[in-house]
Amino acid sequence: MKKTILFFLANCLIINSFAQRTLIHCGTLIDGVSAQPKKTMTIVVEKNKITAVQNGYTTPQSDDEVIDLKAKTVLPGLIDLHVHIESETSRDQAQKRMSMSQADVAFEAQKHANTTLMAGFTTVRDLGGSMVNIALRNAINKGLVVGPRIFTSGKTIATTGGHGDPTNGWRPDVTFPDAIDDGVVNSSEEARRAVRQRYKDGSDWIKITATGGVLSIAKNGKAPQFMQDEVDAIVKTANDYGFRVAAHAHGAEGMKRALRAGVTTIEHGTFMDDEAIALFKEKGAYLVPTIIAGKSTADSAKIPGYYHPLVTPKALETGPQIQATFAKAYKAGVKIAFGTDAGVFKHGLNAKEFQYMTEVGMPAMEAIQSATIIAATVLDMKNELGSIESGKLADIIATDGNPLSNVATLMNVTFVMKDGKVYKK
Ligand SMILES: [Zn+2]
Repeated sequence: MKKTILFFLANCLIINSFAQRTLIHCGTLIDGVSAQPKKTMTIVVEKNKITAVQNGYTTPQSDDEVIDLKAKTVLPGLIDLHVHIESETSRDQAQKRMSMSQADVAFEAQKHANTTLMAGFTTVRDLGGSMVNIALRNAINKGLVVGPRIFTSGKTIATTGGHGDPTNGWRPDVTFPDAIDDGVVNSSEEARRAVRQRYKDGSDWIKITATGGVLSIAKNGKAPQFMQDEVDAIVKTANDYGFRVAAHAHGAEGMKRALRAGVTTIEHGTFMDDEAIALFKEKGAYLVPTIIAGKSTADSAKIPGYYHPLVTPKALETGPQIQATFAKAYKAGVKIAFGTDAGVFKHGLNAKEFQYMTEVGMPAMEAIQSATIIAATVLDMKNELGSIESGKLADIIATDGNPLSNVATLMNVTFVMKDGKVYKK
């Protein structure tokens, strides 16, 4: 018996000592945390983890595999904190929502997930979909389908007629499942129940629509949609279950109620006022700007008939404002975390957001960090994700150009590794 155990232990040691390493030779390395890029570096990857970052090009030992990125700029896998992986904008989106089954949605979601990963986004936070989101996250984690790591809120929590009420704009005689299960709440008790339902569903986050929104079939895109006691109940219950809360907000009043309640992120933040800015800073909340969503919905609204008549004026008013609000918030010292609202525009174009952030004053390095170490911090994953350092998960991408001199090169990611596995090179 003893002999067998010793033999087993010896075998383990042998296997470990010959474990294959991957050496990534990096011409330029932006590691996600350092203020300056580094030249001529080697990242050592073993299984799914980074085990060392070394100066110079480390010489391989017998079993090592070398990935030559000497001509490229290497970065941590990018993180988009606001996507909707299940859908993508189109003129017939309303029709599609009516006719597509959950299985149809799942196949489309898989395609969007693949597109997102190939664009260099190795992690996303999905802020609002159906149970497909949770199933897709699980399938990706099991290796059944290809996509980014997903942290999902599952179904959004909204109010009757509010942004995220899934029955907005439907014929009144169409029947739906129980509204509360779908996340439509109208009291603090219902709010608690909806949070608990998300826990039961397997969500990672809670998403609320603190104000009206642009793309819902409803008139007002700014008004607050929860009473203070409702949003307080959501955040308190969420915290009990280990959830953080993301709040969609355009108008200032709903945004301030969400900030007072203690949400972690405000999405869009379009019409924030000085009091809201002060609350962001007092509470340590992050703004997730989604500038690209504003610009692209405003563009689509100019195409006659693209949106429902209630949506078009909201898109034209809200969309163009978001970039200026981002610039103001950034200058005022509000913490910024990268997010795009992909799905509102075509999946895979997420990195366009970097251009919009930098053209109004955010340095490229800060914009990159908002999508790496800062986004990982928002996800409570800063020990696992968001930088190229020993001990982190091996999520690594590369571009042909240097994004610090031309941020648009992030639109064309030419190497993608997630969890130590190469998906694109
Ligand atoms: Zn969204």
